[in-house]
Order: sequence, then C-alpha cells, then structure tokens
Amino acid sequence: MEENIQRVLISEAELRAKVQELAGILQQRFADKNPVFVGVLKGVLIFFSDMIRQFDAQCQIDFMWISSYNGTTAGEMTVKKDVSTDLEGRHVIILEDIFDTGGSLDFTYRHLLTKHPASLTVCTLLDKPSRRKPGITLQPDYTGFVIDNVFVVGYGMDYNEQYRNLPYIGVLKPEVYQQ
Ligand code: 5GP
Ligand code: MG
Repeated sequence: MEENIQRVLISEAELRAKVQELAGILQQRFADKNPVFVGVLKGVLIFFSDMIRQFDAQCQIDFMWISSYNGTTAGEMTVKKDVSTDLEGRHVIILEDIFDTGGSLDFTYRHLLTKHPASLTVCTLLDKPSRRKPGITLQPDYTGFVIDNVFVVGYGMDYNEQYRNLPYIGVLKPEVYQQ
C-alpha cells in the first residue's frame, strides 16, 4: 500500500497536534453545552474519533451519509443516511474531513439547519480553497490545514475505497490513477 504513496503531506505527529488544538478550542466553547458532533461518512471517521476523544466534556455523536463522490469529481447530493438524534435546540458541530468544491459541506449545513439547532458550527480538518465552486459562501468556523490542489488519501480518506487506514495524510503517485 505505502509503495503507492508519493509523499507524506501531513504526518501523524502534525495530525495529533492539530486535533488537540481544534478539540481544545471546541471544548472551551461547548464544554457546558452537551454538543452533538455530526460526522459526514465515511472520510471523517478517523478525524472524528480522534476529535471526540480529545473533547473532555459531555457530548453526543451522530452521523450522516451523503452521496455522491465518484473518483475525483463531485456530483449531485442526496441524504443516504440522516442523523437519528433530535437536533432541535441543540448545539451541533459538523466535523468534515475535507472542504473541497464545498458542495458536500454546504449541502450538509443547509440540511442540518432545517432541524433548528441552537447553533451550527463547522470544523474541517482540511481546506482546499482553490477548488471552491462558485456560489459556495459557507466558510468553516475552524480549519485544521489549508492545502494546495492535490488529491490526498489516508487518515480516513480514500481513493476507490482504499488507503483510509493510513495513519498519515499522503499524496498518491500519479501512476496509481492511471491504472
Ligand atoms: P466537496 O463536496 O467539498 O467537493 O468534497 C468533499 C468530499 O469529497 C470530502 O468529504 C471527501 O470525501 C471528498 N474529497 C475531496 N477532496 C478529496 C481528496 O483530496 N481526497 C479524498 N480522498 N477525498 C476528497
Ligand atoms: Mg467527506
């Protein structure tokens, strides 16, 4: 698996430090609010589980699954699995792996707003601002790393459902896409 990685973009140590920093900020804001962390599957899985373990106060978790992202191009959005928690009047924190064209987070944000949360906060591990499509006005409240326009894998993120289990974030060798 690792022979297909061209370079490590963000190391395990850098990820650990950033998660601690982001979780610390969220804890200061939400420690007494019993927030609901909502993750957008599947890419957020590792970031999500690391973040909630650094959040040292009462909280709940829930997940959404939205389609569709085929290969490396974004498509239309629908809710494949909705949250099961009643979010009315709750402080909701959306965790995302990567804010790319912006379509997924924008869709998720508007979907969750219809559930009348007391507040809705967005925290993304990665942001690729150069890829944003026109018309996306949503800005994440908290961002881990701003990265260039490269396709990344690892730490939950996949290429054709592979590489999610890499403990760091890496860039694939170009020839992997051409197979
Ligand atoms: P957006 O809707 O912002 O274009 O895309 C967000 C989703 O696309 C992310 O949650 C992620 O699942 C996927 N995505 C975007 N960029 C990348 C990337 O560089 N690598 C991987 N593995 N997935 C990406
Ligand atoms: Mg995602």
